[in-house]
Amino acid sequence: MTAQIIDGKAIAQSVRNRVKDEVKKLQAAGHRVPGLAVVLVGSDPASQVYVGSKRKACEEVGFSSVAYDLPAHTKQDELNALIDRLNNDDTIDGILVQFPLPEQLNEDEVLERIRPDKDVDGFHAFNLGKLAQRQPVLAPCTPKGVMTMLKESGIDAKGKEAVVIGASNHVGRPMGLELLLAGATVTITHKFTKDLQAHVERADIVVAAAGIAGLVKGEWIKPGAVVIDVGIHRMADGKLCGDVEFDVAKERASAISPVPGGVGPMTVATLIENTLQACRELHLKLETK
Ligand code: NAD
Repeated sequence: MTAQIIDGKAIAQSVRNRVKDEVKKLQAAGHRVPGLAVVLVGSDPASQVYVGSKRKACEEVGFSSVAYDLPAHTKQDELNALIDRLNNDDTIDGILVQFPLPEQLNEDEVLERIRPDKDVDGFHAFNLGKLAQRQPVLAPCTPKGVMTMLKESGIDAKGKEAVVIGASNHVGRPMGLELLLAGATVTITHKFTKDLQAHVERADIVVAAAGIAGLVKGEWIKPGAVVIDVGIHRMADGKLCGDVEFDVAKERASAISPVPGGVGPMTVATLIENTLQACRELHLKLETK
């Protein structure tokens, strides 16, 4: 069997096209366009790339995007003051503070300070709690993006055995909650899991997000399983790869997402989707789509 390759790039483009159409409709109805504030502290090269792609996506769909590039020595009270200002700005629907932050800044404090209805990353305790309660409001972007990939590929998680590899607050845990909400039987594995191979071998859906290149051996994949690779690693030759041994896994899976061109573009597209949602439903208070 050779797997269907789940084209995250194409699905992300269709998400952005939908958002772009909605922005035009908002404008035609006399509303303001959604506004996203993107805050970068310092000059970490990877963060600059991520922030750049988020700002570019905003431009493409017609959002107003406001850039704040703060120096690496920014103090906590200065960053807090900016967040408070953006929290109170009626033209801003989403506030994104790019992580990691320089070490003098407390990331948890930042996450909790952003108003939950402007937390388009979906990292605030309120938004994670709502997802846990099966009433998602602004859901974390990467797991929500994975669910969009599954849906757009005609894959229904209901009743399936799903194994998530990684249990971080931003990816693994909310991924488990999304799959549970979709009716899967979920196992979340982590660094203390004893026999990862045994879990992967019985999974109908595998979502790999451990951040370890090639951790998931292709031979572990159950024939016909769906494999989503969240991991991103830059190899010595400059190419990107994921957590899954792609070349072997694709001969066993029924569908698999590649790296690059899989989950990465979906995360950005979902951030854009969440910002539109915050604008329409939470701030302009238009009807739910
Ligand atoms: P993290 O380091 O915060 O969490 C990693 C998790 O993996 C931890 O819960 C840890 O317990 C678990 N883990 C470690 N070794 C393991 C093992 N042997 N078996 C099972 N679990 C194990 O990382 P993160 O922020 O969750 O990101 C994970 C990966 O996803 C990274 O490669 C990151 O770059 C990537 N990522 C990609 C996107 C995207 O848009 N594609 C978004 C976020 C993160």
